[in-house]
Amino acid sequence: MVAKRRIIPVFIPHLGCPHCCVFCDQNAIAGQKMPVAPEQVVKEIEHAKEIFGDSKAVKTQLAFYGGSFTAVEEEYQNSLLQAVQPYIADGTVDDIRVSTRPDCIDKNILERLKKYGVSTIELGCQSLDENVLAVTERGHTAKDCEDASRLIKQYGFELILQMMTGLPGSSDELDIATAKKLIALSPNGVRIYPTVVLAGTKLESMWKAGQYTPPEIENTAELCGKLTDMFWTANITIVRLGLNPSDDLSGGQAVAGAYHPALGEICMGRAYCLRAAKQLEALRGSEAVCLRIPKGRTSMVTGKGRANIERMRAMFNIKKIILKEAEDLTEGQIFAEKVMS
Ligand code: SF4
Repeated sequence: MVAKRRIIPVFIPHLGCPHCCVFCDQNAIAGQKMPVAPEQVVKEIEHAKEIFGDSKAVKTQLAFYGGSFTAVEEEYQNSLLQAVQPYIADGTVDDIRVSTRPDCIDKNILERLKKYGVSTIELGCQSLDENVLAVTERGHTAKDCEDASRLIKQYGFELILQMMTGLPGSSDELDIATAKKLIALSPNGVRIYPTVVLAGTKLESMWKAGQYTPPEIENTAELCGKLTDMFWTANITIVRLGLNPSDDLSGGQAVAGAYHPALGEICMGRAYCLRAAKQLEALRGSEAVCLRIPKGRTSMVTGKGRANIERMRAMFNIKKIILKEAEDLTEGQIFAEKVMS
């Protein structure tokens, strides 16, 4: 599981990344084109201090998101990490998170990151299928992901692995196989990014040339519901499913694929339904069934226009399904019981 923290996000765009994965336009995702300067890092922390106040009840992490942190020039990396040090010394920031590629990790890098107070490393694996990695021009192998993950854990960092679904050359079966391999690496958390075709990327050209058809939202929700169930079962935190709301794609950068601002909620709703279905089979034909769910999950389990409830009612011939939020349940827990109608 991933430790709970307040995050101060700093977005590092594509700058300096020597690769060009077919789906990537980091400048579009990070919503900015200029490289982040150390002064900007200081500004973000000072801004967060105003919002958070003096409360130290929850730990605070400075997170360098986007791009490939350890792929850019070491001097630049160090200048950003250095900017955080006074705030670690005075207790404003507890630790640092960076995102990077599997082939940009080695012992020297990990030792340097540790020295600067980095405690969490996000690794963009995207797929653990060699053919998908080749077709998407990732420039690293599945073995690179596995070796880097083991090394990161060996050095005592919190590990978050990122995977993408629906990439060129992939399928639901291959994406499920990737999820199983990620689970075997025992990360603390995962991010799942269904493929979105961004304007100006090579993937857009592939899509326009008819060489690639991205899965739509319905297929993606079905698949990601299964993946969510798998990660929940393995007790691995799903840090994020779908692009962040801050990944401002409202300007038309998303030209095709499963882009929906509430995608995570839709997929988690499907995962709850999958879990409910295993119990509803035994209650088939009941007049009324109550589903106990965690607090705040009613709209997620109900689905848009009660779609999830109606689907379960029809599938199991149940006249009435009611939802009851329970304080004692945690994410992923759902219990079905027959009740008087
Ligand atoms: S490695 Fe990351 S930042 Fe670099 S091109 Fe690929 S997805 Fe973009």
